[in-house]
Amino acid sequence: MKIAVLSGGVGGARFLRGLLHHLDQTRPAGTTEVTVIANTGDDITLFGLRVCPDVDTILYTLGAGVEERAGWGRAQESFRLQAELTEYGLQPQWFRLGDLDLATHIARSQWLGQGLTLSAVTARLAARWGLPERGVTLLPMTDVPVETHVVVDDGERRAIHFQEWWVRHHASLPAEQFVVVGLDRATAAPGVLDAIRGADVVLLPPSNPVVSIGIILGVPGVRDALRGTPARVVGVSPIIGGAPVRGYADACLAALGVPATAEAVAGLYTDFLHTWLVDPTDADAAVPGVRTVAHGEELLMRDVAASARIAGHALALAEVGG
Ligand code: GDP
Ligand code: CA
Repeated sequence: MKIAVLSGGVGGARFLRGLLHHLDQTRPAGTTEVTVIANTGDDITLFGLRVCPDVDTILYTLGAGVEERAGWGRAQESFRLQAELTEYGLQPQWFRLGDLDLATHIARSQWLGQGLTLSAVTARLAARWGLPERGVTLLPMTDVPVETHVVVDDGERRAIHFQEWWVRHHASLPAEQFVVVGLDRATAAPGVLDAIRGADVVLLPPSNPVVSIGIILGVPGVRDALRGTPARVVGVSPIIGGAPVRGYADACLAALGVPATAEAVAGLYTDFLHTWLVDPTDADAAVPGVRTVAHGEELLMRDVAASARIAGHALALAEVGG
């Protein structure tokens, strides 16, 4: 069976970890291929190094190297190198880069500098984290550098990098619009469209609908592939009872004029979504043309077991007859 998953960072990675756990427990090894299509709109160049936050969160989470409490970055991390950069007055200082994490960015930047594509680089990084052995292919959505920017206005109207808006300002500056710099030149990375068209099942984790899933959907051909795939597309709501579980999805949705409800988020996907898995609180969500199913417990990925039950439920709903 072939499963394609569109993923952002923490929400996507925790869902994927649950999915792999579920597959380990229910299917013979080697019978399922999971292709992950990761958002690269969060990418940024810092200190000359290319950083791909969502890709790295997936690598560390699936490779058992993630800092569990934060949900991103490396476990047992230290910050000696960045402290030294600060002594030199180098900017920015608001984006935390740990010493172990920096090794990933140095390796990536070195290989990109040698002319490898981001797909090829990501495959090398994924090999180090054991993804191929687990049946996982991790693809960046595109090999073309793209960066999400946010148009803000606090008296001075300007566009700032998504990371500056999110990490430095905690999404507190009202966002007027998201602009994905480079997307006009972007094409889907090799394997992305085929993974969607050739999938038996397509899953949308509870990733941010605007700045994670929304950015992937903007890559030319992705949305058409989702509309045309014979696979059932099943999504998991990132919104429970009118609020995001973590992060600032509500501030992102506000920029689109979309309410932060499970129902309204599914409304962004109606052209390709078959089934929407929601929290029991949102059981009455009604989305034209989409089947809404309430999970049997809170839709919270508290631990691997809970994530596995959510992913297993989504998978069952996507399989024929489910
Ligand atoms: P990011 O790139 O690190 O922000 O991560 P994603 O875009 O993949 O996921 C962020 C979204 O995941 C947020 O909108 C959260 O509301 C959602 N989320 C995180 N944890 C959970 C959870 O346990 N359950 C549900 N339903 N959604 C979650
Ligand atoms: Ca992200």
